[in-house]
Order: sequence, then C-alpha cells, then structure tokens
Amino acid sequence: MSTLHTSKLAKNAPGWDTVDPTTLPATAFAGTGEAEMGKFPHHWVTQTGQLYLHKDGLSAAWASAIATTAGKPAILDVLAHLRKHFAALGMKEVSFLGFKYDVTEFDQALIRAGYLTEKDLEVDVGAMALRITGGE
Ligand SMILES: [Zn+2]
Repeated sequence: MSTLHTSKLAKNAPGWDTVDPTTLPATAFAGTGEAEMGKFPHHWVTQTGQLYLHKDGLSAAWASAIATTAGKPAILDVLAHLRKHFAALGMKEVSFLGFKYDVTEFDQALIRAGYLTEKDLEVDVGAMALRITGGE
C-alpha cells in the first residue's frame, strides 16, 4: 500500500462529494496551500491507505484552478500538475457543473514557462508517477 502520487484510478472510487478534503494527505493536493491560492484536492485514499486519482476531483480541481488563475503566476504550477494527470488519462476536455473546459488551452504557455514539457503531454495511462515536492 502506498501514498505514491500517480494517475491511477480505482474502479470503486467513491463519489467525489463524499471525499472529505480535511482527511487527505498533502500528496492529494495540487498547489502550495497558501490561503489566497487555495489547495486543489483531486486524489482520495482507500481505507488501506492507497492513494488514487479521482476523475471528478480532477475536473473540479481544474475548474477551481481556472477560476483562481487571473494574475497569479503561481497557479501555473497547479495547472501543470493537473494537466499531467489529464495527459496520463488521455483527456483533452472536461465538464464541470455544466461548463466545458479545454485542458489543452494553456499547454503552450505552460511549456514556455517551463512548467511542462512535450513529454509530459504524452498519454501514458497508469504509468505516470509525478515527481512532487512538499508532501509525503
Ligand atoms: Zn495529483
């Protein structure tokens, strides 16, 4: 069992609305957790302590990061983190609360800013393990 941060999905994932973010480890979030930036949970943990990506959580995190984006360069780190998961899942757009998001929208900006590489955007289902900082 491991809290390794990957893009693995579980078949028996609970509804995202039943996942309590206050119980999640730091690896379940994207972002620094600074108050003004917020944290963006998108993973959940099984009773045995296994960390999984949550598809609806990922969409919610993306929508919420986009809503927070304006004029805050630090959010690029969050978008890049989430974008790698979408790439691993082979997803290019998501819907959240009736809105559609093109998750490739910021690819070139993120690559130019050094947050992403072309290689990060290759689809590699189940094999991606993001390197992260600031969490166990
Ligand atoms: Zn993640």
